Amino acid sequence: MKKLALVIFRNNLRVLDNKALLSATKDCETVIGIYDLNLLDYIKSSFRKEFIIQTIHNLEKNLKRYGINLSYTKDISSTLEKLSKKYCITVYFSKEVGTYEETYENKLKKFSYKEYFEQTLIEPFEFDYTNSFSHFRKKAEKKEIDTNLETPKIVNTIDCRNEILPSTFSTLIFKGGEDEALKRVNHYMNYIHDYFETRNEMCGLDSSTKFSPYLACGAISPRTVYKILKKEEEKTFSSKSSYWIYFELLWRDFFHMVMLQSKNKLFLKTGLKNIDFNFNTNKKSIESVLHGNTGVDIIDASTKELTSTGWLSNRNRQLLASYWTKNLGLDFRIGAKWFEDLLIDYSPASNWGNWAYIAYVGNDKRYNVFDPEEQSKFYGGNTYINKWLHKNETSSHVAYKKMALKIKREVFNLNE
Ligand code: FAD
Repeated sequence: MKKLALVIFRNNLRVLDNKALLSATKDCETVIGIYDLNLLDYIKSSFRKEFIIQTIHNLEKNLKRYGINLSYTKDISSTLEKLSKKYCITVYFSKEVGTYEETYENKLKKFSYKEYFEQTLIEPFEFDYTNSFSHFRKKAEKKEIDTNLETPKIVNTIDCRNEILPSTFSTLIFKGGEDEALKRVNHYMNYIHDYFETRNEMCGLDSSTKFSPYLACGAISPRTVYKILKKEEEKTFSSKSSYWIYFELLWRDFFHMVMLQSKNKLFLKTGLKNIDFNFNTNKKSIESVLHGNTGVDIIDASTKELTSTGWLSNRNRQLLASYWTKNLGLDFRIGAKWFEDLLIDYSPASNWGNWAYIAYVGNDKRYNVFDPEEQSKFYGGNTYINKWLHKNETSSHVAYKKMALKIKREVFNLNE
């Protein structure tokens, strides 16, 4: 039987620095890419769905340059089964973190397969996953990063019966695709020495990198970002600011490796700490946040941006999650799911890792509560509130500081 390499695309939607794809083209003369359309059905965020569809279109075009067809299926198991009757198949895929992601991989492992872990900048390594980010970073910074990035070899392909990639009609603030990802990263090289000063601002396209939507679906690899960053530092200079982009990429690696090692504990109410706090599920409180009716302007404006665009800066994500857990005492899992269903850059490890962190069941060692109004003053909240609520910021009548003390006592069993 003729040999056929099948490359499964999920959140590795690129041709550059894609180990599964590269190995397939090195091992075999005939290669086909496969995308399972069922994966799109699990995406509730219309923003993310549209972004991914745009990225897949671009992937299909880019794969053609290497002679490879991208085929769509609605039933991965039966497609693999059918092809295995005609060809001697090997399935190539990128391993991902998350419960659903792992279950999916079991379907692929029924055939001859090769798997690669390539979601992170650094190769996964053992560390105490219950410990702090600093503990991880000290070890991580000593690791070599391989920047020898390759594109696939040109090969033959086969025609395969095709389902059709659906179209959606969401208006997006970012364009999807590997080409766009490279454009964005190259564009941002103009700002790397300002990043440290601007990264917490609530408005502005270039205040932070906006790499996350591309990294989340694998339109670009973190190693490619790192390589371009290092090249720019060589061309100009390295600064605290340019270092800080690498530092933030390490946070991303951290949560991916915590999820990998903890066997998905980040999805549990008891988190990494195995402590059962008295989180509530009060319907009125939940609705006040979801409908942007808390009465705290910066919180309500954040909800407005999130629900209108699928985007939120890191600072605003922190404020929302802190208000949710530390002022209202709500179960963080409901908040994390809310974000999951909206974010354009949703990634299980980054989302659930950050939510668990803020809910004090993850890697945070200190009990922190953000003061939304103070934060708003500090990070340009008035312009932001103007943009999303069409009014100037007003001091709220909500006694949120008092609420935070009550929640600390009653939900987290901590004394003032
Ligand atoms: P930059 O500030 O420019 O950072 C550069 C890159 O570093 C980002 O693109 C991202 O890949 C990584 N990064 C930065 N901060 C973090 C962080 N705290 N955790 C993990 N990676 C980080 N990020 C996601 O990619 N997907 C999510 O689903 C997600 N959910 C989040 C939920 C909450 C409650 C919070 C507090 C944070 C969440 N983040 C998530 C992390 C962070 O908010 C976004 O990665 C960041 O805002 C994206 O903007 P940027 O690309 O401009 O980031």
